[in-house]
Amino acid sequence: MRCQKCHQKVVIKISRANAKYCKACFIGYFEHQVRRAITKERMFSPEDRILVAVSGGKDSLALWQVLIQAGYQTAALHIDLGIERYSESSSEKVVQFAARHGQKVYTHRLKEAHQLGIVELSGELDRPPCSACGVIKRYQFNRFAMENGYTVVATGHNLDDEAARLLGNVLRWQNEYLLKQSPVLEKNEEGFVKKVKPLYRLSEYEVAAYSFLNGIDYVVEECPMSESSPMLVYKKALNLIEHQSPGTKQQFYLSFLDNQKKSPLPPSTMALHSCPACGQPTSSEVCGYCKIMSRLPGPAQKVGGPSLT
Ligand code: SF4
Ligand code: ZN
Repeated sequence: MRCQKCHQKVVIKISRANAKYCKACFIGYFEHQVRRAITKERMFSPEDRILVAVSGGKDSLALWQVLIQAGYQTAALHIDLGIERYSESSSEKVVQFAARHGQKVYTHRLKEAHQLGIVELSGELDRPPCSACGVIKRYQFNRFAMENGYTVVATGHNLDDEAARLLGNVLRWQNEYLLKQSPVLEKNEEGFVKKVKPLYRLSEYEVAAYSFLNGIDYVVEECPMSESSPMLVYKKALNLIEHQSPGTKQQFYLSFLDNQKKSPLPPSTMALHSCPACGQPTSSEVCGYCKIMSRLPGPAQKVGGPSLT
């Protein structure tokens, strides 16, 4: 089988696009999709200081690599969740990647800040680990970017992640969440920095292939907590449909975005204000992070900031 662009040997078939590529043409296709996302959605420019949220997995490291190669100003923030072997090897991959590319990475370690990892912390809170993890990550990325002059936070969410999230939000008709489901969330006066998802046009399979073909050393093991995450169920359901009807996933998500541009959902009526405890923006009395912290036992409440590793 030959590459549809240059007739070299095929290394990957992309059913949803009915395409076959050799290594060089696939890498070209992948990077073109990222550039297209950045320009089409006006994500950032070379003047921006970009904080990349890195977990050590394929998505965030592939994103960071594309941005570094394209010459953007980047640094990364990694959250060490304190899940024994998984977190140790994730942090190791992130630090090694940064060193190889001469980039800065900051790490926020939950066990250092609160003496608890995400599993113990969610036990104390009687809340699913992914829910606590989401609150902590969003808070730390936003706060760190604001306090250190980063103008954009970039995350490695791919097409599969976004389609699964859309399915979950549609199943419950969660309008507030649907409104936030966009590859770009603009900064606002209340204190949220701009957030972008440059991989939103690329599937998980394509990101894995790009990482493998570029020799990116990422943590292959999934977070052990993901097994209990509803996102996994939505992904499985969408994969079943995609298998029968390639292109459905992309159509589902990209058509939603198109419709949002043509006839948007009514804007949110939620008013934001500064959290009285920490100053970060929130629509509740105190922000989700401070609420979590106030429920932890005394010594675990300390709000520790990230450090350079
Ligand atoms: Fe956090 Fe859950 Fe994702 Fe693990 S699977 S990184 S706990 S959100
Ligand atoms: Zn707060």
